[in-house]
Amino acid sequence: MQPIVGLHHVTAIASDPQRNLDFYTQVLGLRFVKRTVNFDDPGTYHFYFGDDAGSPGTILTFFPWPHARRGLSGAGETTRTAFSVPLTSLSFWREHLTKSGILFEDTGKRFDEEVITLRDPDGMVIELVGHADASSVIPSRYADIPAEHAVRGFFGVTLLEQNGEGTFATLQVMGFKQVAQDGQRYRFSAEGSALGNHIDVILDPNASYGRAGAGTVHHIAFRVKDDASQLEWQKELSKSLNVTPVQDRTYFHSVYFREPGGVLFELATDPPGFGLDEPAESLGESLRLPAWYESRREQLELTLPKLVLHKAVQKTEA
Ligand code: ZN
Repeated sequence: MQPIVGLHHVTAIASDPQRNLDFYTQVLGLRFVKRTVNFDDPGTYHFYFGDDAGSPGTILTFFPWPHARRGLSGAGETTRTAFSVPLTSLSFWREHLTKSGILFEDTGKRFDEEVITLRDPDGMVIELVGHADASSVIPSRYADIPAEHAVRGFFGVTLLEQNGEGTFATLQVMGFKQVAQDGQRYRFSAEGSALGNHIDVILDPNASYGRAGAGTVHHIAFRVKDDASQLEWQKELSKSLNVTPVQDRTYFHSVYFREPGGVLFELATDPPGFGLDEPAESLGESLRLPAWYESRREQLELTLPKLVLHKAVQKTEA
């Protein structure tokens, strides 16, 4: 079976769409790679941010619901989403966050990495993880962040669980092995060094359950190579879990299951990717709709909140 190498995307809930767009493109310097609608609720947006190419392992997606109430993160949820940056870039990020008026905390060393913690405008906890082996990057062509300091993609996520047994077993079936432990924090990684290959589980039997809402993560998706591999994993995981049938998400194909601790997991295929329906230069600039909503385009464009996309002046090579 083709291995699961790391995260494909993380999907979260936001409130104000413009504020969400501005924070992730201007403060974190991600590329706005897709502007589409929530396929289950087409009167609302679905945003995708990532590296310049929209590579798997870099994709943070949001359902921005303008009047969403603030959620509360708790047990059975992804409580932290971590991005990878070079260790030598942390001083740049401290200065950049300060200039941008974003409060952050120097969390210090966690295992072999140095961590900065901040919150997005909806209170979602974001970590910037500085480490020496940060991968190369395809930086957003429209961001103000110098390429050498740009966010590489995901480092990983942290899950909060009351009891680890079922979660650990599920991660092991998926090919993740426990590689480190510090107190109640257990780190799992798959073979290799793909982006998003660190799943930390914090155990706290007294943690209360969260409440979905703005600033909380809805689900996390892991990468599968293609449709055939997805079907093999669906079969394997169905031995112990309730896995959904394959769903067509246009830019990838998905199956979902809830791991025993309560976190919603997805397996998403690498292909076809975000270049499917628009050219690389103009990703995210216009509303993309799946074929079955095209007949409603005019009405949807009128109803959806207007957006202003900031594009930094492209730097020319010296
Ligand atoms: Zn998803």
